Amino acid sequence: MPKVRNWQINREMDYPYEAAFPERQFAFVINTNRCIGCQTCTMACKSTWTFSKGQEHMWWTNVETKPYGGYPAFWDAKLLKLLDERNPDKQVWEEKTFRGQTIFEGAPPHGSRVMGYLPTDQDWATPNLYEDNAVGPKGEVDKLHETGEQLPVHKTWFFYLARLCNHCSYPACLAACPRQAIYKRPEDGIVLIDQSRCRGYRKCVEACPYKKSLYRPTTRVSEKCIACYPRVEGKDPETGGQRMETRCMAACIGQVRMQGLVKMTKEGDWAEERQHPLYYLVKVAKIALPLYPQFGTEPNGYYIPPRWVPRDYLFQMFGPGVEEAIERYRVPDRELVAVLQLFRRSNRIIYRYEIEEGPKVYESEFHGKPFTLYDDTVIAFGEKGEELFRTKVEEPFLTRPDKHINWV
Ligand code: SF4
Ligand code: SF4
Repeated sequence: MPKVRNWQINREMDYPYEAAFPERQFAFVINTNRCIGCQTCTMACKSTWTFSKGQEHMWWTNVETKPYGGYPAFWDAKLLKLLDERNPDKQVWEEKTFRGQTIFEGAPPHGSRVMGYLPTDQDWATPNLYEDNAVGPKGEVDKLHETGEQLPVHKTWFFYLARLCNHCSYPACLAACPRQAIYKRPEDGIVLIDQSRCRGYRKCVEACPYKKSLYRPTTRVSEKCIACYPRVEGKDPETGGQRMETRCMAACIGQVRMQGLVKMTKEGDWAEERQHPLYYLVKVAKIALPLYPQFGTEPNGYYIPPRWVPRDYLFQMFGPGVEEAIERYRVPDRELVAVLQLFRRSNRIIYRYEIEEGPKVYESEFHGKPFTLYDDTVIAFGEKGEELFRTKVEEPFLTRPDKHINWV
């Protein structure tokens, strides 16, 4: 099997095909600390792409309540269990390097190219079971903890995990497809299923560790998130050619999602773009981490981890960068505060930002560290260098006029 370089696990790994990287890669960051579980993103996707007959059970994007929620049910707990069986020393990280087997390396010796499982109809039937529920069922096989996690103050915890296809750099769905019906676009890394080639064998459904490829019984072929590619291409008539973020990103009420296109090197890492907001969050500030990097697909969705959740749980979910990411997020520096203001001020894709310094407005100490707030202005630019918007750190203070327009 060819060897490819996976920077998220900091080593080479087996993958059924030679590495091939797009010019730019579709990527996104979701801030779990601010997600309110409103499901606006879920419904934005549903009402755009999966409202037809045979798609009733399909949620290309969904928001599940961790630790017990999952769509399909217990998708991650089930795969982690399989991985544990393949990794006798459990999932070992040595510093930033994953030493266990990925889902490609742990594939059964004969047959499948990827370790996975096919969820049952029952697993797909309850997309938001355990919503807002911090305590799992007692005595069930797939529960994660005996009595729920304990925190000194709250006793229990949960958080919302918003999910969609990660348009992985090493897609498991693509690797497993015997018809070569799945492809990764060279221009933006979006992973698509060619409906005319698919024969509905469901190998992709079995292989995708995130369970984001789904089978449609009415057409007997598989479907998945298409990253709203007409919007990303700038084909939506609303924007006059400017590239636009996906529906789930643009609709986010909590302003927790940002999606963009990051430049790739020939070796498959992100090319340095210091002023690109996603590059800054993932590679410079390092506060956004991939979901289950140990699976090995190099997912292009990144999460700012929830700061109130036990660290061993987060370590398993986001890998070894968790502590540092939470520390930086809890006491953000000047640049990070400014960049966080870029989330959801516009539905256009941001390629670059600049910061204009403003006055100091607040000073304090958080978690034993000094914190200073400046009312800086952050400016977002599009693909051709055009200014998309500018926004300030401090919310503007608006006073209503004496007489409102609806007053008589
Ligand atoms: S998340 Fe799953 S469906 Fe999406 S590209 Fe990765 S392996 Fe394929
Ligand atoms: S729209 Fe935003 S805040 Fe609401 S559930 Fe989705 S990610 Fe969370």
